[in-house]
Amino acid sequence: MIVCESIEALRAERARRTGSLGFVPTMGYLHEGHMALVQRAVAENDHAAVSIFVNPLQFGENEDFGAYPRDLERDLALLSAFVDLIVFTPSVEAMYPHGFQTYVQVEALSQGLEGARRPGHFRGVATVVAKLFNIVQPQRAYFGQKDAQQLAVIRQMVRDLAFPIEVIGVPTVRAADGLALSSRNSYLTPEERAAAPVLYRALCAAQARYAEGERDAEALRATMRAVLAAEPLAHVEYVSVADAETLQECEGRLCGPALLSMAVRIGRARLIDNIVVGVEQ
Ligand code: AMP
Repeated sequence: MIVCESIEALRAERARRTGSLGFVPTMGYLHEGHMALVQRAVAENDHAAVSIFVNPLQFGENEDFGAYPRDLERDLALLSAFVDLIVFTPSVEAMYPHGFQTYVQVEALSQGLEGARRPGHFRGVATVVAKLFNIVQPQRAYFGQKDAQQLAVIRQMVRDLAFPIEVIGVPTVRAADGLALSSRNSYLTPEERAAAPVLYRALCAAQARYAEGERDAEALRATMRAVLAAEPLAHVEYVSVADAETLQECEGRLCGPALLSMAVRIGRARLIDNIVVGVEQ
């Protein structure tokens, strides 16, 4: 494992390597979900790189940038198993030097769902990922399906700006009780952690209705809301059934693949989760 703190050091390491490079951007506090991405990047490429950078640009003013969990020592220990892995740990000053003023905005796809509740979030994500792509110069980049809108935004950005990069979506890694692994799960008290699998239960209930033939978008949203309502610690921010490609909210009957998704506050944690229905698994 080679740790690079500066853009210059990273570029020098990249230049020493020929062949394909798989890249995994993260905000650190690594868990098995991140590791699934790293394993794919290592297995499918000649070289692999991981970035660890808590990106201030993608946090709103009242969000948890300051409180976001960080433990670089532990992250590096987890990654040290991968020989020859490049780990990029830039400072905020390196990524956003004084006078920084260039941003990437993926228009329509950034507007609904998470983007509607977190103004500026996907502008921050697209900007940092574009800059990381330019620095790391990967052939493939790996993103979790857990952040489905983020994956869609990055795919669109790569198409629109002609980055020569293949974007690969990796299935969500879950705990045994269904909770999607997330760095933010560390905010949960034991009681809240016990309540948190309600998100996945709600998604599975709607998926089961879909499998039985239910195609009415509002009926599927109602199914998810009913499951969530039974958990007193869960405070629903939104529940959505959207077109899996455009991410536009569905009205009436579904006629193609749909993204079922939600954001739910449990204690201090704002949890998101999703599944797609209507595609061959
Ligand atoms: P983050 O550190 O939260 O920005 O996540 C870095 C990458 O890991 C993103 O592409 C996420 O979608 C992905 N990721 C986070 N949690 C999971 C999970 N439980 N399963 C699969 N991928 C995940």
